[in-house]
Amino acid sequence: MERSTIVRVQDGLHARPATRFVRLAKGFESDVEIVKGEKAVSAKSSVKLMLLGVKENDEVSIRANGADAIEAVDALIAYLENPMSGVEEGVGESAPQPATEAAVPKAAAPAEPAAVDGGLHGVAASVGLGLGPVFAHFPQQIEPHNKTLSADEIGPEKKRFEEAIVRLQEKLDRSLASDGMQESDRGIVAALRDIASDDALRDETLAAIDGGLDAVSAVIASSSNLADDFRKLDDAYMAARAEDMESIARQICLTLLGQEDARLDDIPDGAILVAEDIGAWDLARAPLKRLGGVVCGHGGATSHVAIIARTHGIPAVLGLGEAVNALRDAREAAIDGQTGQVVIDPDEATRARFEEMIGAATREKEALKAYKDVVPRRADGTVIQVAANLGSLEEVEAAQEAGAMGVGLFRTELLFMRHMHLPSEDMQAETYAELARAFPDHPVIVRTLDIGGDKPISGVEFPEEENPFLGWRGIRMCLDRPDIFKVQLRALLRAAVHGNLRVMLPMVSDVEEVRRTRVLIGECAAELKVEGVAHGEFPLGVMIETPAAVFGAAALAEEVAFFSIGTNDLTQYVMAADRLNPSVANLNDAAHPAVMAAVGQAANAALAAGIEIGMCGEAAARSDLIPEFVRMGLTELSMSPAAIQATKKQLSELLDAAA
Ligand code: PEP
Ligand code: MG
Repeated sequence: MERSTIVRVQDGLHARPATRFVRLAKGFESDVEIVKGEKAVSAKSSVKLMLLGVKENDEVSIRANGADAIEAVDALIAYLENPMSGVEEGVGESAPQPATEAAVPKAAAPAEPAAVDGGLHGVAASVGLGLGPVFAHFPQQIEPHNKTLSADEIGPEKKRFEEAIVRLQEKLDRSLASDGMQESDRGIVAALRDIASDDALRDETLAAIDGGLDAVSAVIASSSNLADDFRKLDDAYMAARAEDMESIARQICLTLLGQEDARLDDIPDGAILVAEDIGAWDLARAPLKRLGGVVCGHGGATSHVAIIARTHGIPAVLGLGEAVNALRDAREAAIDGQTGQVVIDPDEATRARFEEMIGAATREKEALKAYKDVVPRRADGTVIQVAANLGSLEEVEAAQEAGAMGVGLFRTELLFMRHMHLPSEDMQAETYAELARAFPDHPVIVRTLDIGGDKPISGVEFPEEENPFLGWRGIRMCLDRPDIFKVQLRALLRAAVHGNLRVMLPMVSDVEEVRRTRVLIGECAAELKVEGVAHGEFPLGVMIETPAAVFGAAALAEEVAFFSIGTNDLTQYVMAADRLNPSVANLNDAAHPAVMAAVGQAANAALAAGIEIGMCGEAAARSDLIPEFVRMGLTELSMSPAAIQATKKQLSELLDAAA
């Protein structure tokens, strides 16, 4: 049974879609292969699938042989044509994703002086400066024995290898189940566990043992072949998967040898962890708060170690290659995660420079902490809420630590993008409820799905559009897809019983959009009532992001409880300057008098109608514009958690001076 099709999976079978495709294939008994050009690989191995390099719009065929061959081909073809089809939510949603542009530090601009001159140079993987004692972690290399097995040793050796895989998986499962591992790190460890059980590594190793090689040597040989294949693809993401392969192979070998790598529990405070390579789960389990920095021979900006370091704000320089050996016996190291420089046993002048810069950064951070619990208040007693913009629950802790007065924008699309399929009502309800519970004393504003434009998601077919930013996005798409929108509205109604939840609509340009949403909310509430499901109510607001919303603000204000200005979009629409196009970046400035006039007009309409108005676009954290926003009457500014304390400081000084 064989059928061909054109792949419609956005960005091709890479990372998470590959994991989903393999999971689907594994649900069938038949042998299933995916064929591209001359090459055919098992559809049940994500490693082989990623190495096949299937891109969006490639022609491929699915070939199956077995009792359920027809069903398998149908399901896999359906997935390739529409990744939404036939896929249920399940475990393993955690395949590693390429790090986003924004997350990967860029080399310092030439104008910025480097913290150090000279020294070693590696990949700048996580920004920040580190100066501390070296904690060298160089577990012994495992060398292949290259033992030749006799015919009667082959069977037992294969069994020993299979048992080692099971034991390793159990160990990884235990580490996943343990407390204290952050959710984002857990995803990385789960993805590594998938590689450990992948057919590609397993089949190649078993073939090598069949050829008479001992298990340890077979694992080393097969993993290094597969890692080379990944590296040949000349793609940073794939190079990071090569490293995953090698680090999993090491763990399999250690399991076969009954050994374990030393744990990182004894790292002294502020130490720079130096290693040839660090297993992502070793790092995820390490006392990360104590780490002053990470330096590795292996790894790039999209490697798992880099992602963990960035998540936890630990400076990291990776990919030093052989040069990392020079740090084995070092006493101290100074690292600059912005430029990728590492200085071994820095001299007095370098130490002094580092100490000064680290000290200044720490002092500034410490001084700002004093503003964590400050409640900025106008002379008339009105509080200016300084809230957080969040995209996932993992960011809640940082927002709480910063002193966020609630959430001014929860971007729900990340929930949808992350899963490559539509998240269930239960899952959404639990997420929104947890968010509301995290800020019991403040409003939490959840924005309904805002996809399209620059934010498409796999799983919803988007038409080819000449001007996607002027097209089928945000509330427009949601109203056309009540099957998707009502699931979210039901989840929000359910979550509303858990806290001070508010809901706002993106990309509104007409009051009818608000009215139609209210009808759907009414339908959802009625359905939940009939079903006997607990639910509450929420104030409904709109984002002011289009010129139409500004000019129609008076009419909109009659329909809703609050406005939140999205200056990122408002600026691009007022200035007719694409927010993603660097050639018009000079026009894309929220400080332009035309944009400020639009903000002022929306504020006047809100004040006249007696509804609240805030801002959740990037401009909300701009110290040059904040005084004007306050003057206009905005009572909420929502921003990245990192900007909250500085904004509270500015607001309290501003308001004190005005009082
Ligand atoms: C905005 O447009 O200002 C906004 C906050 O929304 P997003 O950046 O998600 O489009
Ligand atoms: Mg927007």
